[in-house]
Amino acid sequence: MASASRLSRAVTAMGEAEVDALLVGPGADLRWLVGFDPPPLERLTLLVVRADGQHTLIVPELERQLAVDAGLPEEVALVSHGESEDPVQRVRAALDTAVAGRLAVGDRLWSQFTLALQAALPDAGWTLASRVLAGLRQIKDDDEIDALRRAGAAIDRVHQRLPRLLAPGRTESEVARDVADAIIAEGHDDVRFVIVGSGPNGASPHHQHGDRALGPGDAVVADIGGSLDGYCSDCTRNYVVGHAPAGYDDTYAALLEAQRAAVDAIKPGATAGEIDAAARDRLAQAGLAERFIHRTGHGIGLAEHEPPWIMADSDQRLEPGMAFSVEPGVYLPGRFGARIEDIVVVTSDGCERLNTTDRQAAMVT
Ligand code: ZN
Ligand code: ZN
Ligand code: ZN
Repeated sequence: MASASRLSRAVTAMGEAEVDALLVGPGADLRWLVGFDPPPLERLTLLVVRADGQHTLIVPELERQLAVDAGLPEEVALVSHGESEDPVQRVRAALDTAVAGRLAVGDRLWSQFTLALQAALPDAGWTLASRVLAGLRQIKDDDEIDALRRAGAAIDRVHQRLPRLLAPGRTESEVARDVADAIIAEGHDDVRFVIVGSGPNGASPHHQHGDRALGPGDAVVADIGGSLDGYCSDCTRNYVVGHAPAGYDDTYAALLEAQRAAVDAIKPGATAGEIDAAARDRLAQAGLAERFIHRTGHGIGLAEHEPPWIMADSDQRLEPGMAFSVEPGVYLPGRFGARIEDIVVVTSDGCERLNTTDRQAAMVT
């Protein structure tokens, strides 16, 4: 299976980064490396990937069967620890001579484990696993792109249902509940997030939803996503209830152009900073530079947010197979917000948009 070659590619990247072992807990890195996706809980689960190819997965005894059922690559030895054993001793044993080496720990491993490991391995040097894995994970293979494409199509179908859910008088939370149901009904395995920001709430980019009722003159930002076979969807569309608020139409037209300009700039060899600038310059021309308060996009895959980061001044070069969001936004506090977001995959000569529903703000009555 693909996981075995991913482990060997990780070992090669470890050599380049001068890392002796990777220590990876539950989450996207672990799933990407060995196809195992256990719950992130208080008992230690840790994959030890060694530069010499001797890899060990340490799991709590009660999750041993989960790991067996995951079908681990054969070069990974499975070791479990009982409730009263100290799992850090298992890690020491798995590291062997690497106990005094340079260790790359998962970026999202809980402090509870990281601090215990650091205390037990006083001679080791420490760095982040993303220094080894980010460059590998950000280039998606054909199966990953296919999963992202299916997730993108599924979230597009949810957006097509949204105008019927956004009736005046309904609250953001009522709408969000229906959106969450639709995310599953349209083929996702789980709901990752639902943002329904109405009226002034839309001016707070990560507002989730609350008890505000929709009414005439509201602009609504709907930013929604789930995951399908582990791969995430993430798409933002905009809706107006009854009629657009004052100043909305011109702002929205500039935003739409900015998003298109950024997508048009994507091709292998372009930098992430150039893509960000394409959107930002267009909004600056419309006098909206100060209202675009975040980066243009983020990579996506097994995690909703992962490298590459599409941000100002980044000289990260785009390569075929990179998947990321293009999501410029404009936020006018106290009035409204708007954001247009598609996931794209870089191709040999440009990019493919994985979200294709109409980007105009849809009128709801
Ligand atoms: Zn966000
Ligand atoms: Zn989003
Ligand atoms: Zn996003």
